[in-house]
Amino acid sequence: MEFKDKVAVVTGGSKGIGESTAKAFSAQGAAVVVVDIDAEMGNQLVETLNKNGGKAIFVKADVSKAAEVQEIPKAALAAFGGIDILYNNAGIQHYGNVVTTPEDEWDYVMGVNLKSIYLCSKYCIPEMIKRGGGAIVNTASVQSFACQPDVAPYTTSKAGILALTRSIAVDFAKENIRANAVCPGSIKTPMLQYAADNLATPEKSPDDLFKEWGSFHPLGRVGEAPEVAELVLFLAGPRSSFITGAAYIIDGGLMSTFF
Ligand code: NAD
Repeated sequence: MEFKDKVAVVTGGSKGIGESTAKAFSAQGAAVVVVDIDAEMGNQLVETLNKNGGKAIFVKADVSKAAEVQEIPKAALAAFGGIDILYNNAGIQHYGNVVTTPEDEWDYVMGVNLKSIYLCSKYCIPEMIKRGGGAIVNTASVQSFACQPDVAPYTTSKAGILALTRSIAVDFAKENIRANAVCPGSIKTPMLQYAADNLATPEKSPDDLFKEWGSFHPLGRVGEAPEVAELVLFLAGPRSSFITGAAYIIDGGLMSTFF
């Protein structure tokens, strides 16, 4: 029960990596604030966590919108009395290069993936300071370092997350707040399933694509969301007390190889 008496906010918590991490925090004793635009899946998850003896609430918020983000600390305070951990994980993928990406799509990807971390940190950090400090973990990507074709806004937002993580780490170290990033390779979540469904052809099924993408990772497979959750919990908890401003790659070796 490493996170007993702690309160963790998890954005993009309804599905995928966020869902797995919310479950892991809850299993380790944290009260969890699940934030997402998907209320159906979010409420279902919160119900499950509470049924299993945990403490959890759902907050419906688009993390790219300041007015909605401001509701997150209010809800956390009302339900659990404060915030100790902020996991900025919500993210979206839109495919396109700088010529084909419409301006509104560029702005939305930047808003959800990058500005959201500014907004959630802006409104949650004051509450963390009142508790004597805490930890922030941000989901970046291997695409913070290298990219596939046609992901201009995504890769830009994910690279920006590393700079913002360092900036938060430097600015709030004296308040006992640490900030780190996790950089996953391909992880089997609804986001990756969506990509596989879209790229599938009569010759190549989504499962064939998962196998092909897995083969690019030296460990020979794509990752699973609970594997990322393990790293997030490590970076959010006392076992990583001297780690801040860092970016941790979790990619089955993908960034270590040309193929
Ligand atoms: P997912 O699509 O399975 O889950 C993302 C969740 O975020 C969903 O529940 C969705 O409703 C929510 N969300 C989307 N827009 C939102 C918004 N504006 N406000 C609040 N919530 C919103 O995705 P995932 O694969 O679990 O990805 C989680 C994070 O991990 C993302 O930041 C993604 O970029 C990153 N990532 C994923 C992979 C991968 O292969 N799956 C790899 C590297 C990085």
